Amino acid sequence: MVLPWNAIERLRDHFGDYVVLVTCRACRHSREIRPAFLARHCRAGWDEPLANIIARLRCRCGKKLVDVQIGFNRKPRGWVKNPS
Ligand SMILES: [Zn+2]
Repeated sequence: MVLPWNAIERLRDHFGDYVVLVTCRACRHSREIRPAFLARHCRAGWDEPLANIIARLRCRCGKKLVDVQIGFNRKPRGWVKNPS
């Protein structure tokens, strides 16, 4: 199950139970990043907005043109598809 990156607002969303899938638009290199790894490298830790992290992402080739998606192993707990 893959969602656009903006399905996550902060790292702590969905209990950090997801992976950040980063694909470079220049060289097509892709990698998976665990939110726990990102939290250790952010000033705000688990409260860091994902948008801030994505703005800093850079591929190993040096390009900043990356596509970011959120991968779930399973349907997230407490997931509300259409919050009212
Ligand atoms: Zn690249």
